[in-house]
Amino acid sequence: MDALLDGLNPAQKSAVTNPASVVQVLAPPGSGKTKTLTSRVAYLINHNRLQPWNIIVCTFTIKAAREMKERIRGFVGEGIEAKLILGTFHSVARRFLVRYGNHIGIEKNFGIADTSDTLAIIKRIVKRQRYGVEPGVARSRISGLKARSTSVEQFAATNKKAEQHEFAALYAEYEETLKTSNLLDYDDLLLRCTDLLRKHPECVSSIQAVLIDEFQDTNHVQYELMTLLSQKQKCITIVGDPDQSIYGFRSAEIKNLKLMREHHPETVVIHLENNYRSSGCILTSALAVIEQDESRHNKPLLPTHVVGERPVLRKLPNAVAEAKWLVSEIQRSKTLTGEIFTFNDYAILLRSAALSRLIETQLGKAGIPYRMVGGHRFYDRVEVKLVLDYLRVVNQPDHNDALVRIINNPPRKIGEVTVKALLEEAEAQKMTLWDLVLNQAQGRKRPRTKLSAQAEKGIDMFVNLILTSRKKLLNEDGKDCSLVDIIAHVLNKLSFQEFLRKTYREEWEGRWANVEELVAQATDVALSTEAGDNALDESLPVVEGIEQRTLSSGDILTKFLSNVALSTEVEKKDGQRAEQVTISTIHAAKGLEWPVVFIPAAYEGSIPHSRSEDTDEERRLLYVGMTRAQALLYLSCPTKNSQREQTTISPFVTPKNVARSFDIRGPSFGFQTTQDLSHILRRACPAGSIIQHARTLVEHVEDDVYPLDGEDIDPESNYWDIDDQYSDAFPSDFPSKRRKFE
Ligand code: ATP
Ligand code: MG
Repeated sequence: MDALLDGLNPAQKSAVTNPASVVQVLAPPGSGKTKTLTSRVAYLINHNRLQPWNIIVCTFTIKAAREMKERIRGFVGEGIEAKLILGTFHSVARRFLVRYGNHIGIEKNFGIADTSDTLAIIKRIVKRQRYGVEPGVARSRISGLKARSTSVEQFAATNKKAEQHEFAALYAEYEETLKTSNLLDYDDLLLRCTDLLRKHPECVSSIQAVLIDEFQDTNHVQYELMTLLSQKQKCITIVGDPDQSIYGFRSAEIKNLKLMREHHPETVVIHLENNYRSSGCILTSALAVIEQDESRHNKPLLPTHVVGERPVLRKLPNAVAEAKWLVSEIQRSKTLTGEIFTFNDYAILLRSAALSRLIETQLGKAGIPYRMVGGHRFYDRVEVKLVLDYLRVVNQPDHNDALVRIINNPPRKIGEVTVKALLEEAEAQKMTLWDLVLNQAQGRKRPRTKLSAQAEKGIDMFVNLILTSRKKLLNEDGKDCSLVDIIAHVLNKLSFQEFLRKTYREEWEGRWANVEELVAQATDVALSTEAGDNALDESLPVVEGIEQRTLSSGDILTKFLSNVALSTEVEKKDGQRAEQVTISTIHAAKGLEWPVVFIPAAYEGSIPHSRSEDTDEERRLLYVGMTRAQALLYLSCPTKNSQREQTTISPFVTPKNVARSFDIRGPSFGFQTTQDLSHILRRACPAGSIIQHARTLVEHVEDDVYPLDGEDIDPESNYWDIDDQYSDAFPSDFPSKRRKFE
């Protein structure tokens, strides 16, 4: 009947056309939940004659929202999809507040305060109130209260201690400031929208259908919002998968699925069982991971594609080798396929964003454009930037910009006005800011800018820190100081860990991990320089007559900082290019798919993460990551992590699992020639463009060369030892060793 039903399987069709008012589609990854949801939206428009503005569709990420819109456009026609109320929960809430917020006293043109805005506001209040609290701490505390819908009045009524009283005053002024500046913070968007819809249900009188993707990750407020959005016309379709619930750490409530069935006993539940995304081998290996969760209901997940090529599991000596291997593997597969793959076909999925640094460096050096999803670029992170700015000033004290950024950060009671005045004075005197503050600290020629006693003290401390660090850098005190010693000195003097702990409270550990990551990078640069390996920075000219070993810490610091700059350069230069490798956290990759997926750092402590208390959620996370892959999947693990500690492979990847479903036999996919690869592509999942190209490519290839099912591999043998023999990326004698397993 409808073109939009063509190609759907019976269960999907039933989900798309079901006349029930409340529908839950519960199904595994790649089974077409999102496709079904978008088709149902189109069906409601084309068949049930709903207007697009009668329909609300909620997703979790901006990228998912964009992709969904594109899929719907194909069915309903250009321009119609633009009228849907479709977006993330925050953006949908925003739209309602823009339209109807006046009913609850929110002006139409309200602004949204992002995290840096809110911090700046709190800083100002703290200063004015002379309240001895770190602004970051106060912000986290306010956000926590708002998430639980605790207003200032409610807080004040039950918290009477002196400190709480002070905090209540801060909270009140914060709210007042937002209100007078006509701003809402992120927490406000969801809360105020529920507030609006509860008081004014007429705002949703035109809404006839509410559809939600990735429902397993909704939290309490979002469930509340869904209920309120559908209060006039009960027509709710949700799709989700309990096995992919990965936001428990942000208070997602998996029990919302059950809660919904309790609230709506008439709910029709539909299960989908066929996977249309991944090759058979990829599914087998992903299932072997999720099936370790014993509390889970076992559900069928049937491949519709060919067996394909076994996922590759590789152990590399260290994280640098891992990043290099990964990049070379991208280049190799791309070249060998005669450019069948574009960079867009590759994704590198990470457990935590801090892991991206080495990979970014290697991609940058190889000139491969990439985009970062779901996290700031490593070097853009506030704490990383701050440490880098200190190092810039230590290296080059007349770096005015960096100096301005750090002179009062962490706070040293040198106010913004003072810094501005000092800067102006320095400019007028045609000297650097550093010289000016140095004069002040050394009591030579005091600046004309009037300084408070506290500011004078702050400047003394700051100058002292830079001078002592430079002394170490220039080896003036006769002691041999490494770059890492210098960084450690700066971090110690700043009590940086303590500073992060106080400023970011719950978030401090992740931020400290980024700093550790930066130190690890400095270690790498230093070690590689000492070893005469200039690989981390080919752009550094080798100076004639100077042995690498004699490079001073200053040279190494310069090299380190230029590596950082180089990495930024590549990102900026290629920012607009269409073809880019995606680097994403696994969290931000949910719902998406790529022909080729890498999951590096698959070791215990990374996944499961050492700081996570929920092993099952970590396992689900790996499952989500693996099921993003269509044709080729690589898992890898450095023998030593970037802190140079010995690692063990993620316990989710058991030897039995490996024997059943991974290729550990050395070079990825065993392909060395174009013929080998075309052979693989023929058997790999027909994902998008690949299969089109693959078909034309494989026509001339002979029949099966390698057996695919590895059931004859002994699951008890020690794979890791065997694999260690293959720690060079592509040993030349590979084919003979490979035969051992066949
Ligand atoms: P996830 O749980 O990861 O979000 P999903 O269940 O939402 O996965 P989709 O993204 O909707 O799965 O679909 C996965 C892939 O399978 C998409 O490329 C989609 O176009 C394709 N697909 C879905 N159903 C069919 C079908 N009946 N025939 C062919 N391809 C299909
Ligand atoms: Mg989906």
